[in-house]
Amino acid sequence: MPQAPYVVDKLISSKAIAARVEALAHEITDAFKDTDKLVVVGLLRGSFIFIADLVREIDLPVEVDFLEASSYGDGMESSREVRILKDLRGEIHGRDVLVVEDIIDTGHTLKHVLEILETRHPRRMEVCALLNKPSRRETDVPARWIGFDIPDEFVVGYGIDYAQRNRNLPHIGKVRFTE
Ligand code: 5GP
Ligand code: MG
Ligand code: MG
Repeated sequence: MPQAPYVVDKLISSKAIAARVEALAHEITDAFKDTDKLVVVGLLRGSFIFIADLVREIDLPVEVDFLEASSYGDGMESSREVRILKDLRGEIHGRDVLVVEDIIDTGHTLKHVLEILETRHPRRMEVCALLNKPSRRETDVPARWIGFDIPDEFVVGYGIDYAQRNRNLPHIGKVRFTE
């Protein structure tokens, strides 16, 4: 189906993102400083750029693993149905885990993913999300670190897509339809 034409209005600059990522990484480094090896679990695909920048600012030994859960098709509304499309490669039993998410919207995706990961008995599990839409929350999720609270807008860029496009935008912007 062809897409309605849209433009992307800048919401958060790449400079602001870089500064916030650095600050988050320092807090994470401090919080996990007694850990042998932190397992950073990126939720694909939206977190891939965030995680790449974040791990380079974390001053600890880290392992990186990925999990793909899907709640959205190519549309803009959450289906509230969460599926694991691709599981972790490594074991997290007894490990210290940091789950990295792009956006917390209703909270259903993250809640479901955390429930699955808890059954594997990590020693400790924390969440870092780049973006948060507090006004959209339907279920409580324990996210210790949030990059930015944003309004209820559909956003793209810095790894985040609209129908698989705009992931390569260096900043975060909101989608505005032009007709
Ligand atoms: P939730 O389950 O919290 O409602 O939604 C979780 C996922 O929906 C997010 O991790 C993200 O992948 C996607 N999502 C939520 N809001 C947006 C948005 O504004 N833009 C895009 N591209 N995806 C979003
Ligand atoms: Mg996501
Ligand atoms: Mg998506």
